[in-house]
Amino acid sequence: MIPEYDIDIAPLTTFGIPARAAALVRWQTADDLRDALADGSLPRPFKAIGGGSNMLFTGNFGGTLLLQDCSSEIGSDGTVAAGMELDEFCRLTAEAGLRGPENLSGIPGTIGGALVQNAGAYGVEIGEFLVSARLMNLNTGEVMTVDRDWMNYAYRSSRLKEEEDRFIIIDAVLKPQEADALARIDYGNLRAELGNAAPTPMAVRQAVLRVRDSKLPNPAVVGSAGSFFRNPEVDPAVLTPEMPRYMLPSGQAKVPAAWLIDRCGLKGRRFGGAMVWESQPLVIVNASGTATSADVVGLENEIIRTVRDRFNITLVPEVEHV
Ligand SMILES: Cc1cc2nc3c(=O)[nH]c(=O)nc-3n(C[C@H](O)[C@H](O)[C@H](O)COP(=O)(O)OP(=O)(O)OC[C@H]3O[C@@H](n4cnc5c(N)ncnc54)[C@H](O)[C@@H]3O)c2cc1C
Repeated sequence: MIPEYDIDIAPLTTFGIPARAAALVRWQTADDLRDALADGSLPRPFKAIGGGSNMLFTGNFGGTLLLQDCSSEIGSDGTVAAGMELDEFCRLTAEAGLRGPENLSGIPGTIGGALVQNAGAYGVEIGEFLVSARLMNLNTGEVMTVDRDWMNYAYRSSRLKEEEDRFIIIDAVLKPQEADALARIDYGNLRAELGNAAPTPMAVRQAVLRVRDSKLPNPAVVGSAGSFFRNPEVDPAVLTPEMPRYMLPSGQAKVPAAWLIDRCGLKGRRFGGAMVWESQPLVIVNASGTATSADVVGLENEIIRTVRDRFNITLVPEVEHV
């Protein structure tokens, strides 16, 4: 484990926005991590990074980023390393005929980042497969095992999201559904894409990847962090008749942020090198490849202001600002 200093963050994130980190440690085992935490010469604070696909560095980071270099294998008991790519996990489980994770195919990033964010797509969230996770306390080096209840999962949120700077996930045990579980395709246009046959997990995966490709920017080509805003949960009093909504048990209504942004005529809107993606207005992209964090934040603020003025709803970013 050899620390690197003064590193370029852009290639470590899918946004590709320029920023520097004071140090980076690539770790493999819990012992590597403990050594890093005990190394008094490494700049503080410590921050985990996975695929960097849900982060916007709004300036240089003065601490040490912790990135896991690991194998992409699923252990016989379902253990996966936090640094394993989520899409690789989805591919392997679909290949094994197991159900559930195939709906998460194509989401960039790692198992660790997904478990923090409770990444979800097409009616499935990663949190539902979690049996247990091993965490290291970044302050003490102590390792503890937690279960799904401890994680307190909700829509794009977890207990770790609140306490993320205290813990790092080392690995996790994930248990997909068995092969005889029903395919979950009543979401978005998946059923239309698949027809009426009972699709295999691999067929669902391929359909998800096709639908995603048609709507979302490929991070290898255009930088982004996916959905930039959360879908707001609002008081029914602010709903307008034409506004799509999903009523929640709490009595609040969840409204698609993409619809609000679209209705404000913001598709294709540019601010410096940042732009609202035409085919999915929930996504802000690094259109020029040279966008700065100030461009992205400028566009973010303009979207929030415009939507608030028109609908009296305040959008909240899903992407973590570091
Ligand atoms: C094109 C595109 C499409 C996307 N589509 C979706 C989608 O459909 N659904 C969805 O939910 N998201 C989506 N996202 C967002 C993102 O890919 C997910 O949130 C992903 O799960 C983040 O994983 P990551 O490894 O990149 O996390 P990072 O961005 O690296 O980190 C996110 C947070 O998790 C923390 N973290 C990372 N690893 C660990 C660890 N081992 N231990 C503790 N904390 C850790 C980080 O410190 C940070 O706070 C999309 C992004 C892009 C670019």
